[in-house]
Amino acid sequence: MSDNDGKKTLGVRGGPRSGNVKQSFSHGRTKNVVVETKRKRVVKPKPGTGQGQGQASQGKSAASSSDSSKRPAGISDAEMERRMKALQAAKAREAEEAERRAEEERQREQERQRRREEAEAREREQREAEERAKAKAEEEERRKREAEASAQEPQQSETQKPAPTKPAPARKQEKERDQNRGKGKGKGGDGRRSGKLTLNQALSGGEGGRQKSLAAMKRKQERARQKAMGGSAEREKIVREVQLPETIVVSELANRMAERVGDVVKALMQNGMMVTQNQSIDADTAELIIEEFGHKVVRVSDADVEEVIDQVEDNPEDMKPRPPVITVMGHVDHGKTSLLDAVRNAKVVSGEAGGITQHIGAYQVETDGGSTLTFLDTPGHAAFTSMRARGAQVTDIVVLVVAADDAVMPQTVEAINHAKAAEVPMIIAINKCDKPEANPDKVRTDLLQHEVVVESMSGDVQDVEVSAQSGQGLDELLESIALQAEILELKANPDRVAEGAVIEAQLDVGRGPVATVLVQKGTLKRGDIFVVGEQWGKVRALMNDRGERVEEAGPSVPVEVLGLNGTPEAGDVLNVVETEAQAREIAEYRQEAAKDKRAAAGAATTLEQLMSQAKENENVAEFPIVVKADVQGSAEAIVQAMEKIGNDEVRVRVLHSGVGAITESDIGLAEASGAPVFGFNVRANAPARRSANQKGVEIRYYSVIYDLVDDVKAAASGLLGAEIREKFIGYAEIREVFKVSGVGKVAGCLVTEGIARRSAGVRLLRDDVVVHEGTLKTLKRFKDEVTEVQSGQECGMAFENYEDIRKGDVIEIFEREEVTRTLE
Ligand code: GDP
Repeated sequence: MSDNDGKKTLGVRGGPRSGNVKQSFSHGRTKNVVVETKRKRVVKPKPGTGQGQGQASQGKSAASSSDSSKRPAGISDAEMERRMKALQAAKAREAEEAERRAEEERQREQERQRRREEAEAREREQREAEERAKAKAEEEERRKREAEASAQEPQQSETQKPAPTKPAPARKQEKERDQNRGKGKGKGGDGRRSGKLTLNQALSGGEGGRQKSLAAMKRKQERARQKAMGGSAEREKIVREVQLPETIVVSELANRMAERVGDVVKALMQNGMMVTQNQSIDADTAELIIEEFGHKVVRVSDADVEEVIDQVEDNPEDMKPRPPVITVMGHVDHGKTSLLDAVRNAKVVSGEAGGITQHIGAYQVETDGGSTLTFLDTPGHAAFTSMRARGAQVTDIVVLVVAADDAVMPQTVEAINHAKAAEVPMIIAINKCDKPEANPDKVRTDLLQHEVVVESMSGDVQDVEVSAQSGQGLDELLESIALQAEILELKANPDRVAEGAVIEAQLDVGRGPVATVLVQKGTLKRGDIFVVGEQWGKVRALMNDRGERVEEAGPSVPVEVLGLNGTPEAGDVLNVVETEAQAREIAEYRQEAAKDKRAAAGAATTLEQLMSQAKENENVAEFPIVVKADVQGSAEAIVQAMEKIGNDEVRVRVLHSGVGAITESDIGLAEASGAPVFGFNVRANAPARRSANQKGVEIRYYSVIYDLVDDVKAAASGLLGAEIREKFIGYAEIREVFKVSGVGKVAGCLVTEGIARRSAGVRLLRDDVVVHEGTLKTLKRFKDEVTEVQSGQECGMAFENYEDIRKGDVIEIFEREEVTRTLE
């Protein structure tokens, strides 16, 4: 009250009747204050009704009582009136102000209320959205916990309990929010408490809490929005069946669920998996995610991914005739390339002036009779066989080129054997007939020895005398091919998804990976999505054999395909599939499988395994082998011996025998037919060795014919006795040959593989043919005699009783060990 009175300075102005009031303070001081109270009290009608109102009514009453002439003495009426007016004005102003303040206060209060309500509504919404999403996406148990959390919530805020001790991780966010709300109310409702906040509390508790809550809020909002979106989207979308292989790339998983990749990555992170969209996750994790998004999981085994490749049998009525595909084979220099060029230049389909500039590995020609023929422009047996080994039987007809001036040569025989193994009909092109010394009949009789009986010798193999140089007989050759094709009744259904084989592929600097594909079934179109071997792609462009862009390619048409994601290999099969996801998945699966196979290929298929395979397969009662020897005599002796082996169960069939080193071509043939390769006093050259290792083809070396024969016999009869087996331990290359007096010739070598051992057996190889076998007289490292030299080191070697060593020769180092074999 005293405060009030003191404020009333208007009283001083208003009236002379003032008095002294002694104020006492608690600390003992006193103070006299001049107050003027009486008049005011008189005019106050209802004191104590509340400040604002009291003042307002006071003002009014003052105004109304102005006439009551309670005027201090000595003041004129005018003066009195002026004063009263001023007083009234002041009072009115005050009243107004108070009212405004009250109004403002009310508004603020309303605003606060509104905000509170809004926030609560928002929270409620969020909570509901969250609950909805969670209820849909999460397991029953988690949903229960969620409900618990929201049930506890009101209690906490009412009782203003401190935060619950340890919220479960799943409820953490929820509780954090509760906790913060509790704190907020505590401050507002309990001033005393907040006043007692220590600095530490303020800094750690208050401050930290506020910061945390902000971040938590943001996260929560983000999540809620995301979940709500997921939830609402879910209501509209159909639940998808998600094909789930053993591993899946995150982006692909999102793709299959038709969800945003970002959402999937976030969902994974919430599950504690920090992955990017390009990483693979295992099926179990993916399954959790799929369920969380409300989709159905369909687990597929890895191999199942291949099933999308259409393996439908075509209806006979859909089959249309297709051009034959021809491969030209023959001995080196007999004119394969010349013949291919001659045919191409003379008969190119387009008849374009200037011929073809584009080389795409295959081309089509038209015969005078109107038939279209597809030639594979990749002469050589390796290409032919490697394609067959990779599963692409591309060739319909083999044209065997034999030079009339040279007759049948080793590679001619090889070609015959390859064609026979592939069961592809042959047409003999007796080339170089323009030459005066040409003797086509010698060719025909020579061929008889290899069970190739030409028509003119009353056989069924067509033979045509040609000259690649003069063009003689070319038309005749083409017509023979067309005739042969007719006999074969080659057909394919052009109206289906395409399937084809890669003839060749390379990484083009400008265009990326490019593959020449021979379409075998259906029609390959621009925009098709395909898988090819371990690669996949989408046809960006197709180029024909003349380098022209085309929209599509039907059966037996070779085209260059652009749009691959990697470079496939010759012989890889191309299949068109429906979606990129399928293509990618199959390619990935194949890559994995190939990796596994390569890892497993270290152990070559052994002779015994091959033999038992041959026995098991009742239809194949033949055991195929490939034989290479140092001289023709040995090769023939081995073949004869081999053909005598055999019993009721199995007989040995020599796929191919030849003279010289074992080459990649031999390995290819062996792989395609599941045969081992026997080297008699010859070795596989480096590419062949690599190839054999990769493909798991067994190579066996022998230096005694009986050993070879015994091994095959033993394998055939299943008698697996103890075997002295040779163990290859190293190779050394002769870099230099020195003459050392007293010692003789010494080879300066580099050990290129394995180790060189003084006590081991050695063979001297020249062009992969064994020229000497024996032991070492000396093994030196610098000046010292040593027992071993490691790979990569230089050493000096001299043979016992052998001097004919040359620069470039290779020394094979081996040991013999006894292997006791067990019956399988
Ligand atoms: P490839 O190794 O089988 O591809 O044989 P090429 O096509 O390279 O030919 C080898 C050699 O024989 C080349 O010098 C050709 O010019 C020649 N040649 C090819 N065909 C004929 C032919 O019909 N007549 C004559 N006289 N020479 C030919």
